[in-house]
Amino acid sequence: MPVGVIARYRAHLPIGPSTPEVDLSEGSTPLIRSRNIGRALGLRHLYFKYEGLNPTGSFKDRGMVVAVARALESGSKVFMCASTGNTSASMAAYAARTGARAIVVVPSGAGRAQGSQPQIAMNKLSQALMYGAKVIALRGNFDFALETVRDLTSHYPVALMNSVNPARIEGQKTAAFEIVDALGDAPDYVVLPVGNAGNITAYWKGFREYHAAGKATRLPRMVGAQAEGAAPIVDGAPVADPKTVASAIRIGNPASWEGATSARDESGGTIAAVTDTEILSAQIRLAGSEGLFAEPASAAPLALLIRLVRDGKVEKEAVTVVVLTGSGLKDPDVALKNVEPPVELDGDARTLAKVLKL
Ligand SMILES: *Cc1c(COP(=O)(O)O)cnc(C)c1O
Repeated sequence: MPVGVIARYRAHLPIGPSTPEVDLSEGSTPLIRSRNIGRALGLRHLYFKYEGLNPTGSFKDRGMVVAVARALESGSKVFMCASTGNTSASMAAYAARTGARAIVVVPSGAGRAQGSQPQIAMNKLSQALMYGAKVIALRGNFDFALETVRDLTSHYPVALMNSVNPARIEGQKTAAFEIVDALGDAPDYVVLPVGNAGNITAYWKGFREYHAAGKATRLPRMVGAQAEGAAPIVDGAPVADPKTVASAIRIGNPASWEGATSARDESGGTIAAVTDTEILSAQIRLAGSEGLFAEPASAAPLALLIRLVRDGKVEKEAVTVVVLTGSGLKDPDVALKNVEPPVELDGDARTLAKVLKL
């Protein structure tokens, strides 16, 4: 029987006897060993932590279940978040499950082209709507949406469910525990995308806590990938108008900026930017040579790893975990631009065989 992250890691979470039980069987995602990309890169121990298998299709469920349990415990029945998509899908699902009201604020242009890029992926929006959330498309970018939600929730009895809510970070750190539990120790490198920077903060907290508890003998180097058009931490300054095909990391002023730089500096890791072209080519390589379809933001860390290996910065014997933060089904429109459309054919088995060069 699969269990949710609260049941599995209760002792390490801010959960007490009076915290209500909440669970969608989130977490316990597979750590999948690479069959082909690792060999091609010359890395002997490459793994993918496949977070797309969480109940709403991204790692956001790990933190959301804890945040929702804590909000219910404190008597809150209205939840609110600003979202690039996955946070809203997750919050809306857990609100539906617990009978709370969900209010989601997304950057305006949601699901439709605004300029050249939709602000959030249509499938993520459809999740929030299906789970019954009230969705507001607020004119402006994600950073403005978050600022507005923080302002509102500080004045009204509404629980703020973004990753500035510390319970989110607590829940998300369980992914680090699972990696150690699966490998028997911490890996050498953990590579993950950095948007609002809550997740890199959470992983680092998780690895440190497990190390302090004697469950790991060492700590990994934390490697964060930003997109070149949305790389405030790499640039060292907020980006007013962040641009990237990877909507989940299209964030110009990360709320957990300090958490990310601490994780990088304390672990001896790095945060670097990759181009949209590198992201999309890593995404298609991951799908085509490992059978793992991840959303564009999730392909950013693989793109960065490929570059670091090329530059000789990763030892061949290193145990490396790439975190695939969300499912490719979240945002197929972006991916489909890079593959051949289906071939339309009028004919029988022989013509079909001919076309297929069998
Ligand atoms: C939220 C999200 C990110 C970014 O995580 P942060 O904690 O904001 O840095 C990356 N990928 C996916 C799929 C996400 O949903």
